[in-house]
Amino acid sequence: MGKIITYKTEEKIINLDGKSIKYTLLFKNVKNLTCRFKNYENKLYVIAPANYSYTKIEKFLQEHKRAILNWVEKSNQQKFNLTRDFVDGEKYLLLGQEYLLKINKVDKKQEEGISFDANYLVLKTTKDEKEYKRKILEKYYKNIAQRIISEEFQKLKNKYSGKIPNSSEYSLFIRKMKTKWGLNNSKTRTITIGFHLIFACIEDIDYVIIHELCHCAVRDHSKLFYSYQGMLCPDYQERKRDLNKNIHPFICQIEMLGSLI
Ligand SMILES: [Zn+2]
Repeated sequence: MGKIITYKTEEKIINLDGKSIKYTLLFKNVKNLTCRFKNYENKLYVIAPANYSYTKIEKFLQEHKRAILNWVEKSNQQKFNLTRDFVDGEKYLLLGQEYLLKINKVDKKQEEGISFDANYLVLKTTKDEKEYKRKILEKYYKNIAQRIISEEFQKLKNKYSGKIPNSSEYSLFIRKMKTKWGLNNSKTRTITIGFHLIFACIEDIDYVIIHELCHCAVRDHSKLFYSYQGMLCPDYQERKRDLNKNIHPFICQIEMLGSLI
C-alpha cells in the first residue's frame, strides 16, 4: 500500500436532526469513507476518497447520525469537565508527572510563584482572578521548559556529536509550536523544540531532541534515518506512543498556557 496523501482539508457543517455539527473533511487517496471521533481534540473527522461528491458524503453522515449525535453529546460533557478555572483539584502535567493544583493565597507579591508538595502543584498568588493565576503558571512552565530543554539539548549534542554528522553545528530554539514537537532547519542550522514538550517526561524530551539531531545527518524519514534513531534511542516507538497517547491529549485539553502551545 502506498503513502496516504491528503489532497484537501475543509471545515464543514452538517445539520443532523436540527443540530449543526461541525466536522473536518479530509480528501485522501483512500478506498472508503470513514468517520473518526477524536475525543481529546473534541473533533469529528470525515475521511473521504478524493473523487467523492459532497452529496455522497452528506448522505453517509445522515445514515450515521445516531452515532454522531451520541458522540457530540458525550464530547460536550467532556469539554465542560475540562474547563480550566485554576482552582483546587485540577490536574496538570510536568515532566511526565501528574499533579493536582492547590491554590495558596499569599499577602506579598514576592511570595507568588509555584512550589511542590508531594502530588500537589502549589500556586501561590495574591489575587483570585483566573487570568492572574494563569499567568503565574504560564511563567513557571516557560522558565522550566527553557532550562530543562536547553540542558538536555546540550547534553545530547555533546554526547552524539561524533556519531551524527553535522550535528555539532546546530543551535537550539525553544518556542511556541502548534502542531509539532520539534523541527530541524538545515539552512539556518537550527533545531526548534516546542515549549509544550515540558509536560512530557525526560525520556520523551530526549527522544524528540535525538530525532531532530538525526535529521542533521539524514533529512527524510528513510531507512537510514531510522537506523540512526534506533541506535541512539532504542525505545523510540514507546516514546512516540507516550507522546501521542498521554501528552498530546493533555495539551488539547488545556487552553490556559497561551504562549506555550
Ligand atoms: Zn522527523
